[in-house]
Amino acid sequence: MNRSNSEQLYQEALQHIVGGVNSPSRSFKAVGGGAPVFMKRASGSRFWDEDGNEYIDYLAAYGPIITGHAHPHITAAITEAAQNGILYGTPTQLEIKLAKMLKEAIPSMDKVRFVNSGTEAVMTTIRVARAYTKRSKIVKFAGCYHGHSDLVLVAAGSGPSTLGIPDSAGVPGSIAQEVITVPFNDLDGLREALEKWGEDVAAVMVEPIVGNFGMVMPKPGFLEGLCKLAHDNGSLVIYDEVITAFRFHYGSTQTYAGLDNHEDITPDLTALGKIIGGGLPIGAYGGRKHVMEQVAPLGPAYQAGTMAGNPASISAGIACLEVLSAEGVYDEMERLAIRLTEGLQASAGRHGIPLTINRIRGAFSTHFCEHPITNYDEAQDTDSELFASFFRHMLNRGINLAPSKYEAWFLTTAHTDADIDATLEAAEASFQAMAA
Ligand code: PLP
Repeated sequence: MNRSNSEQLYQEALQHIVGGVNSPSRSFKAVGGGAPVFMKRASGSRFWDEDGNEYIDYLAAYGPIITGHAHPHITAAITEAAQNGILYGTPTQLEIKLAKMLKEAIPSMDKVRFVNSGTEAVMTTIRVARAYTKRSKIVKFAGCYHGHSDLVLVAAGSGPSTLGIPDSAGVPGSIAQEVITVPFNDLDGLREALEKWGEDVAAVMVEPIVGNFGMVMPKPGFLEGLCKLAHDNGSLVIYDEVITAFRFHYGSTQTYAGLDNHEDITPDLTALGKIIGGGLPIGAYGGRKHVMEQVAPLGPAYQAGTMAGNPASISAGIACLEVLSAEGVYDEMERLAIRLTEGLQASAGRHGIPLTINRIRGAFSTHFCEHPITNYDEAQDTDSELFASFFRHMLNRGINLAPSKYEAWFLTTAHTDADIDATLEAAEASFQAMAA
């Protein structure tokens, strides 16, 4: 496949844009380096690059594009919003409409506030939890990604009872000292952390279904145990549902019937993003009334945004949720994902390539290993070279995946059986070439 235009554009981008990309996850560093593909146009499940090559897309822009690219209903909503003026700096009726749609689907949110990204949403939930509890530390889980604000770019210390260390240059050690990181699915680790630091812990924050070291389900009882331990300790529970909300059904993890929980798993605060903006920049956070009343102008916790609640993002979000509320859309994404994952597994098996697939409804992750993936250590302990080779083989056969072994594949409402057939054909040829 000729990608000379992409290569040239990458050289030009390197002159002007740091690293040539506007988000490090877009670089090919984790898959052997070189020029990322420069896409020119997208429609439905397909991409066309600057050299005219066509791809079937499973990246879905890291999640938001769940209705496929350039969905007509969303495009019409954005067009109308643009024609009516794109930014007012005043409240609008549209904001109320989307807030009501979110509250109806995620009943733990009595009150909502819109922001511009998942990063902002998470960052603010932490501030609100600190304001409400008058405590400063947070507990998070290893390998979960919560955006790029200082507090969540912190890596684990040497165990659940030790404080964190900065995971990025520029994050002060003093900030890392406010974070304790424990392994996902490990209630004993959480208990140990709370025994040691409990009095200072404002919140326990989690991706309730993980989307950032593959798709990883909480073990039965993990979320209920987490909520109970946190609440018994006087800490709040924050769910980062930036990936998971509206991903598996019309709602979020806290209302997802596929979880084997018997008791309450309701968080105090929820952070949202991605899908709820239909592909335009957005974030939102919400939660119990008393907690949310900490936020300015009602309360002492300050948070603001020039672009927050802009009519274009809100209109796109409403349109996206309208598409997703139609009967059967999630079942269809799941049906295609089952076909695809079963085919991938069989194909890898035929060529003796170890492959573990974690699938939840229409999203899944592929791990080149033989063991199950239930936490970050297990996700790290997989074959990065095999993934890089698979990624490149697939790309050269017109299949666009995320350039990282930790990212998910996302089915959209635009994928078809023909897409799955073509993808499985590409996978069979890729595995064959990798085994040779
Ligand atoms: N939280 C989770 C779970 C995410 O996956 C992401 C982004 O991938 C974020 C927060 C940050 O969202 P954004 O990139 O919109 O700032």
